[in-house]
Order: sequence, then C-alpha cells, then structure tokens
Amino acid sequence: MAGLLLCSLSAGAHAEWVKRVTDGIMGTRIVVELWADDRAKGDAAIDAVLVEMRHIDESMSTYKPASEVSQVNAHAADGPMKISRELFDLLVTANEYSRLTDGAFDITYASVGYLYDYRKRVRPDEAAIGKALPAVNYRHVILDEKTQTVRFSQKGVRIDLGGIAKGHAVDGGIAVLQARGITRAFVAAGGDSRIIGDRFGKPWMVGIRDPRAGPGSVITRIPLTDAAMSTSGDYERFFEEDGVRFHHIIDPHTGHSASKVRSATVIGPRAVRTDGLSKTAFVLGPEKAMEIYNRIEDIDAIIVKLDGSVIYSKGLEQLPAP
Ligand code: ADP
Ligand code: MG
Repeated sequence: MAGLLLCSLSAGAHAEWVKRVTDGIMGTRIVVELWADDRAKGDAAIDAVLVEMRHIDESMSTYKPASEVSQVNAHAADGPMKISRELFDLLVTANEYSRLTDGAFDITYASVGYLYDYRKRVRPDEAAIGKALPAVNYRHVILDEKTQTVRFSQKGVRIDLGGIAKGHAVDGGIAVLQARGITRAFVAAGGDSRIIGDRFGKPWMVGIRDPRAGPGSVITRIPLTDAAMSTSGDYERFFEEDGVRFHHIIDPHTGHSASKVRSATVIGPRAVRTDGLSKTAFVLGPEKAMEIYNRIEDIDAIIVKLDGSVIYSKGLEQLPAP
C-alpha cells in the first residue's frame, strides 16, 4: 500500500485541471476542460468525449453521404425508414422545438438551405426558392414511435440537424464525463457549451461575443454553474452582396436568411435545448422571441438587436460588466 502510494506520488500524479482544444469535428472547435484525479485519467476522459463527438458527426453530418441523416434524405420520401434510437429521439426533440417556436426552428429548412453555399457565395434566385419552399415544413417529417421509423410526406424534403447537433454532441460529451465520475467540467462545440459543477466555489465565466467586433471582444460575461449556453450569430457563416448579408440561419417561411437580430444567446439546463432555441430570435425578431423565451420555464436569453442594443430575459439579474 505504502509502495503504491509512493509510486504514484513519484510519477507526479495529482488532481488537476486538464484542457484540450481540438479542431475538425463537426467543422468546428471543440473545447474540453475538466478537473481530474490525475492527468492520465483526465486525458482518457477527453479522448472518450471526442470519440462520442466523432460518432455523432459521422451519423448526423449532411456533408457525409454515408451518414444516417444523408441516408434519410435520400430515401425517406419513398417510405418509412427504420433509424437508430439516437436519431429518432433527436428528431422528436427537433419537432418539439418547432412547436415551441411557432415553426421558427425547422430542420426541413434544408429543403431550401442546401441551395446556399456561403463559402462559394452561392445563393438561390427567387424562382428556385419558390420551387423548393413547399417542402419546408416540420410537419412533413412523420415519426412513428412504435416502429422507430421516419418518413417524409413528399418529395423534395431534406433535413439538416446543423441547428441542434452540436448541442446534442455537447450533452453527449457531458454524459460521457459524468459516467466516468467527473463532477467539474466545461465542454464546448463552437457556440454551444455546457458546464457541470463549478470552479471550487466560483462559477465559470463564459463570454458572449460582440457580433460586430473581433472574436476576442465580448459584450458581457455570464457566471454559470451546471448550465448550458448557446450563441447564434449572423457573423458565423455569411457573405455580403450589395450591402445584404446572406448567412446560415434560414427563415423557414421565406427561404431567405433570417436577419431580425445580430445574435441570440440562450441559457438553459441542456445544450441541445439552448442550441435549438437560439435560432428563433433571427426568424421571429427580438420582441416575439423574448416573449417565447420568457414563457419557457428553464430558459434565459440575451439578444443583440440590429441597432446593437442588448435585451435580457426576465430571469437574468443585473450582469457584471465585461
Ligand atoms: P453553429 O452551427 O455555429 O452552432 P447555430 O447554432 O446558430 O450555429 O446553428 C446554425 C445552423 O442551424 C445552420 O448552419 C443550419 O445548419 C441550421 N439552421 C439554419 N436555419 C435553421 C432553422 N430555421 N431551423 C433549424 N435549423 C436551422
Ligand atoms: Mg449551434
């Protein structure tokens, strides 16, 4: 016993914060930071989080033709398709967010959304949008719990989980850590993050980026423990033409970029929820979105309006200055 203890001491094993930043999963930056009994255990836990995230990327990316979601897009208009429990549950969740947000969140946005390529500055003309738009409607995605199948009610329907998958992956990463007994951690995939525990009596401080300044500048910092936070911004993936900004959040009713706010941050218990709800403000505008956020019990929100002013949901006390 004494020998064992000496041995681990001489190897320098002691509890510490372990952090890793990884690029290239889900096309975004993954950050994992946690408190571990020793560095080796911390590194192994981070490895397990990344395995989980790669798995979600493989099954849900529409950029990968072999992914489960790509298979659904290719075949679900032909008849019911049996899908994995994980994807089925996520489609049920997506459906719930569509109803919560009056259809502002809608994974069938992709029926039009696939016509945009922000990197190549490609966008559909009015005729192409008009032709594709009838396929945009979450009600076209028909789920059967008994058979665990999905079916599209018509041809032309496509889904894309880009508005919810990162949050889901963050929750998946947190679950992996909890199963290993980790009680203090931060996991982020791009703008979606979640925290378990605190920093020994202090909250984690998470910054909200200033939408019109560089990546380093923040409009405020939020103290968080045991919470998730997602920010959507019109600065993430966009191009401009004649002063109009075309970016990656689509209004399901028009097929155009949804441009009613500059950014929206949602705080809640789980990242899949905060991710799913952060797009709403772009589609519905700050007032209507805030009304919805205030109505949902476990959610808070911070919206940067088009004029740069910031509004807060009812639940947020006076926040500290940045
Ligand atoms: P990030 O991808 O950086 O996490 P967001 O959380 O803001 O950014 O999600 C934006 C993504 O949501 C888009 O790239 C697209 O895949 C998807 N999306 C766009 N419009 C909608 C919409 N109306 N409903 C659901 N998802 C959407
Ligand atoms: Mg997101």
